[in-house]
Amino acid sequence: MANTNGMQSAPLKFSKMISEAEIAKRVKELGAEITALCQKESVIAVCVLKGSFVFYSDLVRAIEADVKSEFLGTASYGNAMQSSGEVKLTLDLTTSIEGKTVLLVEDIIDTGLTMDFLTKTLAARKPKKILTCSLLFKPDALKVDFKPDYVGFKIPSDFVIGYGLDYQGFYRNLPYIARVESLN
Ligand code: 5GP
Repeated sequence: MANTNGMQSAPLKFSKMISEAEIAKRVKELGAEITALCQKESVIAVCVLKGSFVFYSDLVRAIEADVKSEFLGTASYGNAMQSSGEVKLTLDLTTSIEGKTVLLVEDIIDTGLTMDFLTKTLAARKPKKILTCSLLFKPDALKVDFKPDYVGFKIPSDFVIGYGLDYQGFYRNLPYIARVESLN
């Protein structure tokens, strides 16, 4: 797709995997579960950028209790469709998490290396506990022993785009989740 500003999205063949309605229903359910958590204890919900910004903004609005928001930036080295396992922090939290309950909110868990890195990095700051929530989870792709506490959908090990997930920076604004069939 070419824009009038000259930007061009990477050409892809993709098909819908999870619709807007299915996502909205599941996000509401997750919001209710996390509401119950927030009613028991004070929670800092951390948006793990960039991919989870769409999911996170819907999820926090489905939480009907007090919750604090924080943002963490991560990037994994590697090519466009495969995670290298090397993770770097591109943006850090702006508050101490010592003694606090932290809920990390991710778009997708693939190899699990990002969440493994983040939970270990944040554990050194002595939070009360770290919980994890991921919209998507590819159990067959895991390379480390990692089990998220809240999961939206378990999916096969396909490459997906949309609802915050990108291909070369594009497609994050697709309102549903799509499976990439092929590069054109
Ligand atoms: P990990 O392999 O460490 O669990 O996932 C690292 C990151 O790779 C995710 O946060 C996400 O940004 C990216 N990633 C993994 N699988 C996919 C996928 O199917 N589609 C897209 N767009 N990104 C993915």
